[in-house]
Amino acid sequence: MSLLSKRVNSLSESITLKLNAKASKMAKDGKKVYNLTAGQLPFRPLPDFVNLLRSESDFLHSFQYSPVAGLPELCEKYISHFEKTRKVSVDREHFSCVVSNGGKHALNNVFASLINEGDEVVMLAPYWISYPQMVKLYGGKPVVVSSNAFDIFIPSVDDIRKSITDKTKLIILNSPNNPSGTHYTSEWMEEFSKVMEDFPNLYVISDEIYFQLYYYDPGPTLYYQKKSELLKRTIVIDGISKTLASTGLRIGFTLASRDVVTALNKLQGQTASGANSLVQRALCQFNFELIDSFLAPIKKHLRSNAEVLGEALRNNKMSHLWYQPKSAFYYLLDFSAAPIREKYNEKDASLVFCEELLEKYGVALVPGTDFGIPNSARISLVSEEKYFKEAAQVIANFLACKQ
Ligand code: PLP
Repeated sequence: MSLLSKRVNSLSESITLKLNAKASKMAKDGKKVYNLTAGQLPFRPLPDFVNLLRSESDFLHSFQYSPVAGLPELCEKYISHFEKTRKVSVDREHFSCVVSNGGKHALNNVFASLINEGDEVVMLAPYWISYPQMVKLYGGKPVVVSSNAFDIFIPSVDDIRKSITDKTKLIILNSPNNPSGTHYTSEWMEEFSKVMEDFPNLYVISDEIYFQLYYYDPGPTLYYQKKSELLKRTIVIDGISKTLASTGLRIGFTLASRDVVTALNKLQGQTASGANSLVQRALCQFNFELIDSFLAPIKKHLRSNAEVLGEALRNNKMSHLWYQPKSAFYYLLDFSAAPIREKYNEKDASLVFCEELLEKYGVALVPGTDFGIPNSARISLVSEEKYFKEAAQVIANFLACKQ
């Protein structure tokens, strides 16, 4: 009899971790490695925030349990921030917020609280790696609606409509998107709002962890900004990992109707308790309006690295692989129409492509397979410009089979 549960045995191992381990070993062995797998900003958070963490560490309460749902002042502060940034109003009587240990924990709580065996959950490829894994963990069935590079990885709303059955419980939206680095257009959101209206039992998990991180106008919009009553059937996931460059502090937010929040609290109370008190207390004092000015130079940097990548592709006669990324901090490279593709027999060559690029030329990317897009690889745009420029050149040469 196996010691491990069937549940955990059915989870896939992270290919990113494996490739990262290989990249670290190569670097340790003295090889030049360009690691473009990062899912976090390599910058220090705002000094105002860091100073608040310091000063709050003087108080005993910062080291003790917080309420399970999070500090009420922080929940209220997040809801006000949400209202300002999304330009919607939130009815406190019907909505509330839970603070969890990061966006991933928040998502896990939601899946655990809502999914019954056999429920279908629609997700749009490319999707964030963990969605299908978490859905399966709770007995749900991921239903994937795909997209492609020609449509800038924006799936068709008609395809979404067709994927809905009487078993569909949830749709996951993630705009701005990891890994494509784009957000769905306002027109798309308008169309999507009609689908929501036509299926009144459907709920949406809107993963908005990158909402403020866009570097091309127009910025992201959401369907509930078009029809505010749709917010009632929305579970918003957010956090400080990306917009405050604080992945290690583990704070996530869920905004949802009170019945959902009650269930999330019940689960979180039994499985994790309240999130990190010190960070919550610092956030209570922190001016969330500073996030925009913090992000301004970062957005410039991302935009500039995106241009560097576009130029490297164009200079190597591969403009057809290029689309303009606009948000989050990634680019999903579809190499199915690049000369290198002819080298591989695999139906989906994402992994062999990434392995060869790393082993021979020292560039680490994340294979697209786990994002639901074959023959692709995710490039993180966060690195320092000179380093990124060199890496982009190596990638372009590799795609063109120039090395
Ligand atoms: N959602 C998306 C789309 C992400 O890319 C991430 C992190 O990479 C998360 C959620 C979870 O973020 P965290 O758990 O660090 O708050």
